[in-house]
Amino acid sequence: MKIVILGAPGAGKGTQAKRIAEKYAVAHISTGDILRENIKAQTPLGIQAKGFMDNGQLVPDDLVVALVADRVQREDCKNGFLLDGFPRTIAQAEALDKIMPPDAVLNIDVDTSLLLKRLTGRRVCAKCGAPYHIDTLNGATSCSLCDGELIHRADDTEETVGARLKVYEAQTKPLIEYYQAKGKINDVDGTLAIEEVFAACCKVLDGLQ
Ligand SMILES: [Zn+2]
Repeated sequence: MKIVILGAPGAGKGTQAKRIAEKYAVAHISTGDILRENIKAQTPLGIQAKGFMDNGQLVPDDLVVALVADRVQREDCKNGFLLDGFPRTIAQAEALDKIMPPDAVLNIDVDTSLLLKRLTGRRVCAKCGAPYHIDTLNGATSCSLCDGELIHRADDTEETVGARLKVYEAQTKPLIEYYQAKGKINDVDGTLAIEEVFAACCKVLDGLQ
């Protein structure tokens, strides 16, 4: 089972990816994790990637592809894998099609205005990092776990979130079109409850087996 999962910041992609990986015993592969692992282990690819990052540059497509190609050969991918955060560009998608074409692409779809609401409403405990949302806080201003102060992070302001969502949309639209043309896109309504979104993902994945 070779799956790609797409979803905007705040769409709940990470939560779903984790559950899918558990249920289907496939490796959850996030590009961020692979980069960190390779840099830490000082592999040849990791050293190259670090060079670009240290210069404030993006890690080039061919290097990211090489890292992913290496990762999917590992033992924990014998049942398959779920790629999270890759591909990000058409060039990466084409490269992936050459080595390991995905069976399906899950697109966790959430309306931008709802994402804005979800993300700008986030509050985080300044002491222990526990996440909250103003919709469920009932006016509380301190952490229920450690009594720490709840803060609105600069990353979660409307301006920053709006900019992040625009970048995501511009980046992802061509990818969605690319996979649509191959009949591989499966839109999942990400506005539903976590359980329901998961059930919808499972329905798509069960259909592949
Ligand atoms: Zn706390």
